[in-house]
Amino acid sequence: MDTPIASRALATEAVHAGRDDLARQGLHAPPIDLSTTYPSYDSRGEAARIDAFAATGAEPDGAPVYARLGNPTVARFETALARLEGTESAVAFASGMAALSAVLLVRGSMGLRHVVAVRPLYGCSDHLLTAGLLGSEVTWTDPAGIADALRPDTGLVMVESPANPTLAELDLRAVAHACGSVPLLADNTFATPVLQRPAEQGARLVLHSATKYLGGHGDVMAGVVACDEEFARRLRQVRFATGGVLHPLAGYLLLRGLSTLPVRVRAASANAAELARRLAADPRVARVHYPRIGGAMIAFEVTGDPHAVIGGVRLITPAVSLGSVDTLIQHPASISHRIVDADDRRGAGVSDRLLRMSVGLEDVDDLWADLDRALGERVSPPQQRTAAARG
Ligand SMILES: *Cc1c(COP(=O)(O)O)cnc(C)c1O
Repeated sequence: MDTPIASRALATEAVHAGRDDLARQGLHAPPIDLSTTYPSYDSRGEAARIDAFAATGAEPDGAPVYARLGNPTVARFETALARLEGTESAVAFASGMAALSAVLLVRGSMGLRHVVAVRPLYGCSDHLLTAGLLGSEVTWTDPAGIADALRPDTGLVMVESPANPTLAELDLRAVAHACGSVPLLADNTFATPVLQRPAEQGARLVLHSATKYLGGHGDVMAGVVACDEEFARRLRQVRFATGGVLHPLAGYLLLRGLSTLPVRVRAASANAAELARRLAADPRVARVHYPRIGGAMIAFEVTGDPHAVIGGVRLITPAVSLGSVDTLIQHPASISHRIVDADDRRGAGVSDRLLRMSVGLEDVDDLWADLDRALGERVSPPQQRTAAARG
């Protein structure tokens, strides 16, 4: 749809990619195409287009035949996200889990059912692999064990960095090297292309829950895989056959979300860095996890009851999900990672006292005031308490 324009900065791509044809068409906002079907008086021509799609998975020239094959509004978002991640293509899905499912189905259909993965992953990604719902078999390992875990039928290596919910970071370049010719899938939901572009470090597949930062306002559910065109073609064929398509209105909202992504991520990250600093200095907090690359996510372990903190917030919203303009907090052991077996969860560093906070764009002092109240009384050390009781 667009002529690729080399060497535009990320901030420029964020507001222009996927929209480069609009001015020539006399438009400013991108049109939303809600068609489920597309008329054609040339059924021989349609037959040829369907054959071409079935054979190659390349996007049909001209209008789609049927909305499950593609949608022009969604295609604008795909073009823009590929540009931001520095990949040839991107394929959008109805959710992050639909996107991951499509990747597993592509590899499984090639007889490559074995997946090597590093914990922690997002709870439902862990569950999908562990339960083998799509016929995959997983070997969990640490980054140093990846090369040894590879088998002839390994179709995928999957990692998250920074990981959900502990914010553990990996050296993606080293991980990609350990994968050899096996595709590395890096879930880049937390970092976004603003902070990290895994394809530049050797990841063949970059996955996003676009529900999070790409949409950015807590009102659209979506997933996307940024990758080379060869893999994208297989993903489009799976999407066509299994139906996990993204709705055009969601495609519109995502394209709109991308235009403010760099500004949102930088502003929220500045808030998060400041809150991480204050939490680290607070005696009610045992440990703070904040990534070296920055970002708007914080994880911290409280010395007291994490459920009391969730029950105590007023400005901050106690809710799962992340990446919205407003601040959300949740208890991974109860919610986002509940579906992971408790031993596996703890083994991955997800302590029962861990809270995960997605920092938004509010004033940082207002956020701190709310957290400070929710953390409860600053309990004095035991000796002092005893002394006070005696006195
Ligand atoms: C939320 C999330 C997912 C799943 O995405 P959905 O859009 O909820 O299906 C995958 N990976 C990470 C890191 C997530 O945070």
